[in-house]
Amino acid sequence: MSPPAAIHESPITSNGNGLAFKKDLAVKHAAPANGNGNANQAKTLAELENNWESFTFSPIRESQVSRAMTRRYFADLDTYAESDIVIIGAGSCGLSTAYMLGTARPDLRIAIIEAGVAPGGGAWLGGQLFSAMVMRKPADVFLTSLSIPYEDEGDFVVVKHAALFTSTLLSKVLAFPNVKLFNATTVEDLITRPAPTAENPDAVRIAGVVTNWTLVSMHHDDQSCMDPNTINAPLVISTTGHDGPFGAFSVKRLVQMQQLEKLGGMRGLDMATAEDAIVKQTREVVKGLIVGGMELSEVDGANRMGPTFGAMALSGVKAAEEALSVWEERRKENVE
Ligand SMILES: Cc1cc2nc3c(=O)[nH]c(=O)nc-3n(C[C@H](O)[C@H](O)[C@H](O)COP(=O)(O)OP(=O)(O)OC[C@H]3O[C@@H](n4cnc5c(N)ncnc54)[C@H](O)[C@@H]3O)c2cc1C
Repeated sequence: MSPPAAIHESPITSNGNGLAFKKDLAVKHAAPANGNGNANQAKTLAELENNWESFTFSPIRESQVSRAMTRRYFADLDTYAESDIVIIGAGSCGLSTAYMLGTARPDLRIAIIEAGVAPGGGAWLGGQLFSAMVMRKPADVFLTSLSIPYEDEGDFVVVKHAALFTSTLLSKVLAFPNVKLFNATTVEDLITRPAPTAENPDAVRIAGVVTNWTLVSMHHDDQSCMDPNTINAPLVISTTGHDGPFGAFSVKRLVQMQQLEKLGGMRGLDMATAEDAIVKQTREVVKGLIVGGMELSEVDGANRMGPTFGAMALSGVKAAEEALSVWEERRKENVE
């Protein structure tokens, strides 16, 4: 049986700049005038106040909402199919990386792929679900650059709620015109190209990512043939966090692909040393793939640091620096 077809005269017309309502429909839905003019033409919040009797939203047809979303999303999919840099994971490290790259290089096309619906990873709360976020100095400089207020406790600073850090960082990243966040989207695999070396004839370089809706990715076991999509990029930065159903994705895949011998596995907690190690070791692990944040602790067998988040922010700063130092070279290698 074929699906029902909707047959009606469209109230939408094309005006050359996109779609617009036909005039008569817009008039029919216009708000009644009152002493203060139409409430739906208010220019300030003050003009709305005490005017709720005549209040009405501007007219809309449901398909306009659909088209407003899908037109932009599919244009973004088209644009970012060839990205300059892909960041996997929008946790504290991935977002910090994006912030640094977006600030330094407004000319680069940067895609962030986040498996969850809500970006931010584990940085919406401090340790044991408490609100405050602790960062050891000198990570306070990152907070200052984002104008995030904190209390200074000497060797460390405290943001009153982790969500203040994450929401501020996220809002700045999303405001960059050259950064696109695709959330609810999972990286299912890495795109590779042969890059043999004298030591390893089977070596590859990373040339992009394979993506799918997260909900689709979660159902590969009970639904068959749900093929993915791809994004080509000369450089990928993986910040997928601890090992888990989605976490440590890229480095686990590198082991399966025999590009890393094995993972070191995260070690016990040692706050004083662990943060330095994560920041210092943030690097290009395989050609074209930089790893940062807690995903890196799985590669190096680094200690965990507990609920102190400075290493995640500064690992992002270092990941961006590493990225910009190799990007031009990787771009030249990534011609085919
Ligand atoms: C077992 C455990 C131990 C912890 N120990 C510490 C600790 O020692 N120190 C500490 O600071 N914090 C710890 N945390 C808390 C928290 O994970 C980190 O602080 C912090 O959030 C890590 O930042 P991140 O950016 O590296 O990763 P996350 O905040 O975990 O962000 C990773 C993001 O990547 C996304 N992602 C994962 N896989 C994919 C994929 N394939 N495609 C697309 N997106 C993907 C996730 O959805 C997530 O949003 C721990 C958490 C757990 C579960």
